[in-house]
Amino acid sequence: VTVFFRPIEKINAVIETYPKGVAGFRRYLEFLETEPDIVDRQGAIEVKSLRGDIRYEGVSFGYSGGREVLRDLDLAIGAGETVAFVGPSGAGKTTLCSLLPRFYEVTSGRITIDGIDIRDMTLASLRRQIGVVQQDVFLFAGTIRENIAYGRLGASDAEIMDAARRARLESLVASLPDGLDTIIGERGVKLSGGQKQRVAIARMFLKNPPILILDEATSALDTETERLIQQALSELARGRTTLVIAHRLATVRDADRIVVVDAGGRVEQGRHQDLLARAGLYRSLHEAQFAGRES
Ligand code: ATP
Repeated sequence: VTVFFRPIEKINAVIETYPKGVAGFRRYLEFLETEPDIVDRQGAIEVKSLRGDIRYEGVSFGYSGGREVLRDLDLAIGAGETVAFVGPSGAGKTTLCSLLPRFYEVTSGRITIDGIDIRDMTLASLRRQIGVVQQDVFLFAGTIRENIAYGRLGASDAEIMDAARRARLESLVASLPDGLDTIIGERGVKLSGGQKQRVAIARMFLKNPPILILDEATSALDTETERLIQQALSELARGRTTLVIAHRLATVRDADRIVVVDAGGRVEQGRHQDLLARAGLYRSLHEAQFAGRES
């Protein structure tokens, strides 16, 4: 899980340096695009509205100085498909997903989207096609409206309202004295983890990317919050290619496909029932993680 947080920590650092909300975030984007290690190839193309057909072809990867985390991995995710990644802690689920927005570069092999090698796309245009919803959501000090608008600068009020509604934030917003203009953060209203997550989901509705990476929360949420988030996320995932780092039984069951990542960086794929029947790693993980939770 740590992998994703690196770039986000940077967002945070920069937002703290530029506490002017949205203006600060714009600068962050420029900052990210000039990240020294990963740069645009000469002649890299600006991609627009990808369908979201993803292929990992013979992908190997290890962090510099570390062991190989992924070894010769082949994986095809069709446009619009929802794939749940499960596996033991440290197996490489987060790493696998973080290669897609090129937070890290593959050691060998390649990743394509709609048949185009992601290294042939400009970083900025690639990342505009991918929305990431993390476990830990970072909001900046400002209003709820500003925090949502972050998803797409220049969105209209109606669009922001619609995003809030689809993210199941309506009743929260209605209960606050200043509605969407309520200030949140240190000097304002403190939101719960589940509420923050829904603000992040509202942002994604505005950003409207064809590809989504969801890092599901491991922490327990109350039943009502869990239900709202689940509803918002399944609406968000509809029509998008979705990669979920899954921790919930409901998620893995509903996924079009489950990819089990084992400690050796190999994968096993299938649907819930098929994988259970195979009596492999998935079955033991399932028993360890979800035993007694079958309804
Ligand atoms: P979890 O379910 O605990 O989040 P995961 O399956 O997502 O685990 P990863 O976070 O992808 O696993 O980690 C895979 C391996 O890579 C682990 O051995 C981890 O220690 C290592 N690793 C992760 N991030 C980094 C990093 N930034 N630098 C070096 N090694 C890392």
